[in-house]
Amino acid sequence: MQPGHAEIVGAGFGGLVAATALAGRGWTVRVHERREQLAGEGYGITIHNNMARIFAEFGILDRVLAGGMRIDRRDSVNARGDVVMTRKTARSPYRIDRQHIVALLAERAQAAGVEIRFNSAVKTASPEGSVTLDDGQKLSADLVVVADGINSTIRDALGLIKRRIWGRDCGVRINIPRRPGEIAADDREGTVMIEAWADKRRVLYCPVTKNEFYVLLTCTMRDTGAATSPIDPDVWARSFPAMRSLFIRMRDEADWPQSHWAHFQTIHLKTWSMGRIAVLGDAAHAMPPYLAQGAGHAMMNALGLAAALQDAPSLETALTEWERRERPLTEHTQLWTRIYGATMFLPKPLKTISILVEKVPWVAAQYLRAANHVPTGCGAAGPVSL
Ligand SMILES: Cc1cc2nc3c(=O)[nH]c(=O)nc-3n(C[C@H](O)[C@H](O)[C@H](O)COP(=O)(O)OP(=O)(O)OC[C@H]3O[C@@H](n4cnc5c(N)ncnc54)[C@H](O)[C@@H]3O)c2cc1C
Repeated sequence: MQPGHAEIVGAGFGGLVAATALAGRGWTVRVHERREQLAGEGYGITIHNNMARIFAEFGILDRVLAGGMRIDRRDSVNARGDVVMTRKTARSPYRIDRQHIVALLAERAQAAGVEIRFNSAVKTASPEGSVTLDDGQKLSADLVVVADGINSTIRDALGLIKRRIWGRDCGVRINIPRRPGEIAADDREGTVMIEAWADKRRVLYCPVTKNEFYVLLTCTMRDTGAATSPIDPDVWARSFPAMRSLFIRMRDEADWPQSHWAHFQTIHLKTWSMGRIAVLGDAAHAMPPYLAQGAGHAMMNALGLAAALQDAPSLETALTEWERRERPLTEHTQLWTRIYGATMFLPKPLKTISILVEKVPWVAAQYLRAANHVPTGCGAAGPVSL
């Protein structure tokens, strides 16, 4: 079909990749971002091969990786802080700050001619092809891409949700400054991701830039003493005494107003499109973060949308073909993410068995299917090996 004009809601992973991919195929594109700038929560994103291929396609892979950290190994520690298991990070070793990635995606989109409007909150979208902003302005489009994240109000107003599965757990992601001694240890000891479990609480942290740690805390929704902003170091130190100083630093040095506890959820829509509207990213297919694949799927499905529009004779055919092609893999990841999540709540002996089962090649292949997938629309860049 002939390229037209697209209005995109949300300057996150999905919205910005859709914008660049459409602009590169001849569309005029405007992105609406309700925040006053791109800066939002800072946290570490795991870069799998599927994402790396898209960055390579856009010519920004080297700059993306240069802004993050390559993690040499992953240490599991017990409550006393002793290392009980250590593994080399053979696969997907990069952890990159979200803001760094989103800034590069926005720069790439603007270079392709995309207009990004900040302080521009979209109130509603119409299947006939328009968006209405908070200030009442109505803008027409041949295509509206709704990529406004997990709590999409536009999706909800369109009545698109088929199933919303709330998890038992929640998590917070936060960055804290690293100390000079910690930075110096990188050269001596290598870069390390530390992971610790105590009952249903989990702590995971690693350097995400030379000067910052990224910390992820998860716990059950019922654990109200733990899921607070800022955290109470005494509560967390009860489970992980050896990490007390880390929790104090988190309480005192992290940017809590920019962070929130996310209640994990899985979202399935009745359909990914309605008239001239396509919904993608967390708005369409959110998943808990256990396999670190949410952003990867947002990006893959955004690029896949632009590729489908290029190939099809009409918008309707393109949207149908896009969903037919991309949805099965997305739902595969959602399913295996939930399976992985369920193993975390098993009693200890069964949990140990599940860790062994994960190493069975067929099971490992299910977990990694999306990570190793070549996204639709990635051609010229060739294989990427991180
Ligand atoms: C604890 C945790 C850890 C995670 N770790 C990883 C990981 O390691 N790897 C990974 O791939 N994924 C990870 N994810 C998932 C990842 O963060 C999401 O899948 C990803 O951000 C989804 O991208 P998106 O573009 O769909 O939405 P978002 O990134 O949420 O972007 C949506 C954008 O839309 C804007 N917006 C919202 N409403 C409006 C409106 N009405 N008008 C205009 N703009 C609007 C928002 O301000 C925002 O900028 C994690 C998630 C959690 C909760």
